[in-house]
Parts: sequence; C-alpha cells; structure tokens
Amino acid sequence: MVRDSGWNSKAGCGDTPFMADPAPLRVAEFHGDGISAELSAAVHSVAEKLPIQVEFHAVDLTLENRESAPQKAYDTAMAAIEEHRIALKYPTVTAQESPNKVLRERCGFSVIHRPVATLAGVPTRHSGKVDMHIIRVAVGGTYEDAGRRIGDDVAVSIRVIERKPSQEAALFAFRLAERLDCGVVSTSKYTIQRATDGLFEEIASGVASRFPGTPHRSELFDALLYKAVLAPEDYRVVVLPNEYGDFLSDMACGMVGSLGVGASASYSFDEAGEVRLAMFDPAGGTAPDIAGQGVCNPSAALLAFSMLLTHTGHTELGSRLDAAVRGAIADGQSTRDLGGELGTEAFTQAVCDRL
Ligand code: ATP
Repeated sequence: MVRDSGWNSKAGCGDTPFMADPAPLRVAEFHGDGISAELSAAVHSVAEKLPIQVEFHAVDLTLENRESAPQKAYDTAMAAIEEHRIALKYPTVTAQESPNKVLRERCGFSVIHRPVATLAGVPTRHSGKVDMHIIRVAVGGTYEDAGRRIGDDVAVSIRVIERKPSQEAALFAFRLAERLDCGVVSTSKYTIQRATDGLFEEIASGVASRFPGTPHRSELFDALLYKAVLAPEDYRVVVLPNEYGDFLSDMACGMVGSLGVGASASYSFDEAGEVRLAMFDPAGGTAPDIAGQGVCNPSAALLAFSMLLTHTGHTELGSRLDAAVRGAIADGQSTRDLGGELGTEAFTQAVCDRL
C-alpha cells in the first residue's frame, strides 16, 4: 500500500490482498535521471502489493534540479533521509559532481553492503553457486588521495585505513553473519601492507572476539580471489577495505553473469555502532539509451527495496520480494537485457503476481 508525495508514480498490480499494518513505513525516495522514473514506478507497484503501508517522500535529484539549485537539492535530500533514516536512491547522472559522492560525504556513509548471489536463468560461465555478502569499508583505501608526481618517472599516493569505519564494517559483518548463521572472512594484504592492512585485521579480530559463536578467519586478498572462484560457497560474509571491496564486488558479479542485476546499501553509524542512516540503490546507471521506452529491467531497484524492507525489520517481506524477483527471472519471465521479452511493467506485474 503506497502513499507518495506527488512524484510520477503509478500503481499497476491491483488491490492489495492483505490487511494493512497501522504503522506506515516512511522512505525518502531520491529520484534521478534516465530510467529512474520507470524504476520508481516499478517499486511503487510492488509496494502497493505489500501488507504494510509505505509512504514515499520524493526528493528531486534529477540533473536539471541539481543544476538549477544544487545546494537546495542536496539539502532537501539530507532533510528527508535525516527524517526517515532510510532512503531509496535511483541512478543519477554525474555531471559537475557525483551525487553518490556528495551523499556519501554528507550522510557519513562508511560501509557498503553488496550482496551478490547466483541468479537462476541468467547465463554465466561460472558453474558454482555464489551467495556472498561483501561488506566494504566505504572510505579511505587508495581512493582519498589521487597522488602526485615526483619528477617524470615516479608517482606516489597515500593509502588510508581508519579505525572507526573499519570497526563499523567489521561489526556490521559479524552481526550479519550471526543472523545468517555463517562465518566471517576478513581479507587484505596484511603480510605486505603491514601497517595499514595490519591495522584493519587487528580491528576485525578485535570485533571477532565479541562474537565467539561466529567463526572468523583472515585471508590474504590475492589468495581469496583465487579460492572464491574455485569454491564460492566458502565465502558468505566477507569484510574488506575499500578498494579490495570494489575489486571483489565486480569479480563476484562477473561470476553470477551480471553487473546490473544487484543492489547495494550504504550505511552510517552512531556512536554505539548502530546504523544511523541507510540508503539503498540499484547497481547500474541511468541507461539514457533506453530511458522512457518501458523496457528497462527494474530487478536491481526491486532488490534494493527488498534490502530496505529487511533492514527495517520486515524480513519476511524482504525475502519474499527477493524470491519473487529471482523466481520470475528463473522462469524466463525477464526483460530483454536478460534474454526475455517482457517490458518493465510486465516484468513488475510478474513479480507482483509472485508476491
Ligand atoms: P551512466 O552514465 O548513468 O552510467 P550508461 O548508459 O553509461 O549510464 P549504464 O546505465 O550502466 O551506463 O548502461 C550500460 C548499458 O546497460 C546500456 O546499454 C543500458 O541500456 C544498459 N542498462 C543499464 N541499466 C539497465 C537496466 N536497468 N535495464 C536494462 N538495460 C540496462
């Protein structure tokens, strides 16, 4: 059941068959560019089908609005996410600035959670079953300092590992592993980068000692890449510094055959290590070449919404939505990018039917 604040959403799944939960779930919804409006319409259609009331608080982060009033656009987004503590964000064009970077800095996001799982029905060259949660420190690593040249033939940059975000990532990973009843692998190059990655592993081990029932092991990152390809089932929750997380995410997506059919979550934390703000977004860009044609694949946006539901305690609904998206794709009820024949609305309808 949906209430929204006037964005161009449309419901397409008919009446909700459930009783409504009296407490509405309020979500800041960051609208972007290209296929953003179509992704939002799909999310609203699915939300209509849920037995809870979902209220979307629309924020205009389209390029047009960001260019005409940049400060106001981001201030409005911040006010909305501060009010609701959760946001769903659709793809945005990077022009003057990267909206993702601005939001990360302003929200203080320090951890990115990227689940990557095998999608039945999506062709892949890898036969193993992947079901991996990549918990990545979202700041530091080699990404803060573009470096500098020393003469013609030498360049240096600083690599940063910080205690606070590493601790937050490790704590998030162990809490998740506890829920999933699995172990945690922390990974880095701690035998080479002894100071930086040594600190990261020291922090991960410190957090591990607070979770005696959750197995923990440290693995060298290069060895992990090799072993994860051979035996992905040995890796359920992996926590790692920023750039390694970037590499592993793309490799894992390659193993499941698609970079685009996944979602991720960004989190900031309070002093007690509890999630303060959470933003969920589909992987993939604005796809300007197909925008407005009704053919884009909304799976990643729906999986982002599923993560949001799980995060807000609607675990059962989150799982059902996840299963509905995966089930539709597995049955060949997919969009053209995955070899199917359905348009965005028809695919969304197939997901709604499964809910
Ligand atoms: P951006 O600059 O926002 O990253 P882009 O077009 O350069 O946009 P993507 O948006 O990642 O990069 O698109 C890459 C290709 O994948 C395009 O051909 C696009 O149509 C396709 N694509 C991306 N997202 C989807 C989607 N949700 N459904 C179907 N095709 C998609």
